[in-house]
Amino acid sequence: MNPFNRFVVGLTGGIGSGKSTAAKYFEKLGAKVINADVVARDSVSSGSQALLKIIQHFGEKIVDKKGKLDRSKLREIIFDNSSEKLWLENLLHPIIREKIILDINNASESYVLLESPLLFETNQHKMVNVVLLIDVPEELQVIRASQRDKSTSNEIKKIIKTQMPRSEKIKLSTYVADNTKSEDDLKKQVKYYHKKFSELGRNFCNL
Ligand code: ATP
Repeated sequence: MNPFNRFVVGLTGGIGSGKSTAAKYFEKLGAKVINADVVARDSVSSGSQALLKIIQHFGEKIVDKKGKLDRSKLREIIFDNSSEKLWLENLLHPIIREKIILDINNASESYVLLESPLLFETNQHKMVNVVLLIDVPEELQVIRASQRDKSTSNEIKKIIKTQMPRSEKIKLSTYVADNTKSEDDLKKQVKYYHKKFSELGRNFCNL
């Protein structure tokens, strides 16, 4: 259960499943959306304490000439090095968590949506009351994500392998939105869930 006096919904799904598309519709309906990826990116901005520690650990090669974190280099290093990955996670996860808590506590809406591709993998699901999974089969993830990112199917498949399997995510989620149909169909589902979460949020705050 989450530690806040506010109803928090985790919005998750694998790469290319349609989380950002769904989040955009939720926002249009007036929902407060916190994007865990954006929080993570901000936590290693130039001059941050976290970036200084990363430079101390990996060396100056991890930043570009302007002192900005070279994300692809960092991804490369941790991709097949589990101890470096763990080091980075131990540094960043508590910082990201604290910032998310701050953002949730500052919200005034009846519920807050925490959009996170790795909600389960990073234990962020422990901060939420319910989870909405945006779900599509792997083949569709590959098609949509490779078209969006102009990358190859193999590159997307490699990323999918690093994420929790779809079947496990379905088991752990409270609600599952099927995003195999049109974006209009997804929009309708978002409308339904926004109403549901608004009601749940109002009841939660009145407890
Ligand atoms: P990531 O985790 O990689 O950020 P995501 O889950 O946020 O991915 P989106 O970026 O929302 O996924 O969607 C992936 C691509 O699929 C986008 O180009 C989006 O426009 C498209 N898309 C999403 N939903 C649909 C749909 N129902 N029909 C067709 N295309 C869709």
